Amino acid sequence: MKRILSKDLKNHIGETILIKGYIHQKRIMGSINFILLRDKDGIVQIVVKDKKEISKIKDTMDESVIEVIGDCIKEDRSVNGVEIHNPKIKIISKVKSPLKIEINKPIINANIDTILDNRAIVLRSLQQRSIFKIQSTMANAYRDYCLSLGATEIFVPTIVGNATEGGSELFKIKYYDKAAYLAQSAQLYKQTMVAIYEKVFSIAHSYRAEKFGTSRHTSEFIQYEWEMGFIDSYKDIINFGINVIKYIKDKVEENNKEDLSILKKELPLLPSDIPVIKLSEALDLIFQERGIDHRGQGDLNPEDEKMICEISKDKYGSDLIVITHYPTSKRAFYTMPDPKNPEETLSFDFILRGEEIVSGSQRIHDYELLKEAIIKKGLDPNDFENFLEIFKFGMPEEGGLGMGLERLTQQFLSLQNIREATLFPRDVKRLTP
Ligand code: ATP
Repeated sequence: MKRILSKDLKNHIGETILIKGYIHQKRIMGSINFILLRDKDGIVQIVVKDKKEISKIKDTMDESVIEVIGDCIKEDRSVNGVEIHNPKIKIISKVKSPLKIEINKPIINANIDTILDNRAIVLRSLQQRSIFKIQSTMANAYRDYCLSLGATEIFVPTIVGNATEGGSELFKIKYYDKAAYLAQSAQLYKQTMVAIYEKVFSIAHSYRAEKFGTSRHTSEFIQYEWEMGFIDSYKDIINFGINVIKYIKDKVEENNKEDLSILKKELPLLPSDIPVIKLSEALDLIFQERGIDHRGQGDLNPEDEKMICEISKDKYGSDLIVITHYPTSKRAFYTMPDPKNPEETLSFDFILRGEEIVSGSQRIHDYELLKEAIIKKGLDPNDFENFLEIFKFGMPEEGGLGMGLERLTQQFLSLQNIREATLFPRDVKRLTP
């Protein structure tokens, strides 16, 4: 007999069918018992009356794996419009002890550390698995959108011989008889690949030795990487970023209605005109609207990011705001200075629902300028020899961005902590499970 999945049962009303899955919940009520069986798509209710069948499940705990042959009956009051009657149950994997955390309740009553300590089990809950189903839709949408623009997907190393941008957040590893590092981003490789494919993208791991366990940083995360050549200006990259986020939102709305309803979440407001303002204007706005004077600070701190998003929502009806022209001193060496004011760069961050999700810029494509920029940052051009070399042999005007995969999920679903949007998070305290 062929297994039928819960979502397809409505097409088999009146038939004897085979279903397989996990005991999500049992209700033993004397002579009549109910099992909620969970499979990869949903839940189906099984009504058990036969004494022999009841005895099979009596001491079989939640999450046991079972196989059931029974009659598929129309039942409008049930979640997916059907119920299984007269079941013959076979136990495939019997759970003998209760779970440490109840995962079949509308809210999982545990703090984030307990949830993560028991990650593999908690991920089975309807709420948690919905988060990562949505994340999967988001990643596929990103890939589809990039491909639709004629971009080429690339896969780049995450073990590197040099620090991309310097800094103290590098993981140093032992690599045979030498030292190596875990890559902080795909930056130099994606720029390299622009010279070959013009438009490239990747969904790639990044590593940062973040010292503080904040709710928005982990040590290992994934970035949606994008880089394109022959641009007219940095605005082309901003437009790509806005459009791909809108496309991802559309795909989640289309494919994950049930997951959104399980999570009781609303996706962010993304109007047709997303506000794009300079950093100096953002700091002026915060001063005008909130009386907090961070003008001249050269960056937005986490509180500023929250405030500017609240202001953006009030003023422009948008949960997303793009901030441009960060100071040259605050951005990586490869960032193109603004020809009108070289103290500022043609760079930007996207802030969504109070948190930075994207960082990007036009890049310096001229060999001499790039070498000079490396020296100005106190780095050694010899460490970037391979990278610099590319610019000697022809590079178009180009730019790109990196968008945190977990941060985007976190903000799409208004999750408190980035770890909720990370399957198996790594941070300063956590290396397991
Ligand atoms: P932040 O200022 O929030 O620490 P950043 O400026 O160091 O971030 P970038 O180097 O610009 O971050 O990285 C690009 C994107 O990668 C960020 O916008 C964010 O979405 C994501 N990201 C960066 N660091 C982390 C991290 N430690 N954990 C998870 N995501 C991160």
